[in-house]
Amino acid sequence: MPEFFNVLAPEEAFEVLRKHLSVRVDSERVSTSRALGRVTATNIVSPEDLPSFPRSTMDGYSVRAADTFGATEGLPAYLELAGAVPMGAAPQVSLGPGEASGAFTGGMLAVGADAVVMEEHTQRAGETTIEVMRPVAPGENVLQVGEDVRVGDEVLPAGHVIRPQDVGGLTALGITEIDVARRPVVVIVSTGDELVPPNEAPGPGQVRDINTYTISALVEKHGGVPVPVALVEDDYEAQRDAAVGALDKGDVLVFSAGSSISSRDLTASVIDSLGSPGVLVHGISLKPGKPTIVALIDGKPAFGLPGNPVSAMVVFNLLVRPTLYLLAGCEEPPEPATVTARLARDVASVAGREDHVQVRLNGTENGRPTAEPVFGKSNLIYSLVRADGTITVPLDKAGLYAGEEVEVRLF
Ligand code: AMP
Ligand code: MG
Repeated sequence: MPEFFNVLAPEEAFEVLRKHLSVRVDSERVSTSRALGRVTATNIVSPEDLPSFPRSTMDGYSVRAADTFGATEGLPAYLELAGAVPMGAAPQVSLGPGEASGAFTGGMLAVGADAVVMEEHTQRAGETTIEVMRPVAPGENVLQVGEDVRVGDEVLPAGHVIRPQDVGGLTALGITEIDVARRPVVVIVSTGDELVPPNEAPGPGQVRDINTYTISALVEKHGGVPVPVALVEDDYEAQRDAAVGALDKGDVLVFSAGSSISSRDLTASVIDSLGSPGVLVHGISLKPGKPTIVALIDGKPAFGLPGNPVSAMVVFNLLVRPTLYLLAGCEEPPEPATVTARLARDVASVAGREDHVQVRLNGTENGRPTAEPVFGKSNLIYSLVRADGTITVPLDKAGLYAGEEVEVRLF
């Protein structure tokens, strides 16, 4: 087991795990309409051209472009109306020279038309005559067949996390079912003599178990299936009993608490006893979240997260989150949205340690939001509840100064 103080940077710790992990993605077929957030298990190729017919991109008139050449406001082109092409139907109208046909956005063009003149560039000159005040080139204001997607194009690669627009894009092509990675199952064991379930009133010195629930919510948010298996006391045998059966039911094991020095490295010994190679990393250069365990148990990743609810969430996002995506075949998980802000106060750190600081976005100053650090004594879940996002003080910096520009990763 590595020494507690022989600590790695968070990124290095993840790399150690990644190197040991061999991923085999199981897939399942789901309805596209239910695929939001799922990871594609194969690349997806278009079975069709989109659009499948030339479509007008404007309301106006479909024309033969040559009939409008040279048209100006002073000397407009006069075209005879040959009827309109209704939406959702094939054109019944065929244009002869000097003719135009009413066209709607997204509708088909009249037979023989090769461009669309915007309504705004025309004027009525009589019952069945229009004036065209500007010329159009062939193809102008027309979406050609296959201009969006061509048959055979790869529309999504494997390992892609489905977004709302992807649901729309697949639907447009008639792809109503896709193969996605099976959701990784994460079994969660919370430890601590002081913990009671949330429906119980804590006695003196007791607190409600928060981590089982925040970790479950994070797992769900990132495409996994949370399975809370036990709330156990700080006892080697009890924790081992809870963990031994647990991994059979899941793909990832998450232990909460008991990994700090005060807990005598209890979870580290339990996790290390579960299989091989066991604990890979114990302790990372991170605040909050130093007492973190990364392990591999007979091919399955296991984590010991610090008990402090804030630390547990920070470490989850840095290590467990990318692992869940990796297990689903996604090498580069979607990044949280960010906003650039001006730091309202100094933030102290030490070189050689990565700090994650919760911030609240307060009003704007010169058009830029202000990021106010939410310094809680580290155990306060509400420092997270009240925050809008986090900023990072990188490993090589000893702090950040008030007034500096920071990138806030939004929750
Ligand atoms: P530990 O990692 O066991 O040293 O715990 C660090 C701090 O986190 C202690 O104050 C614990 O009471 C608290 N803690 C541990 N587990 C949980 C939990 N599941 N929910 C809320 N607080 C916890
Ligand atoms: Mg504890």
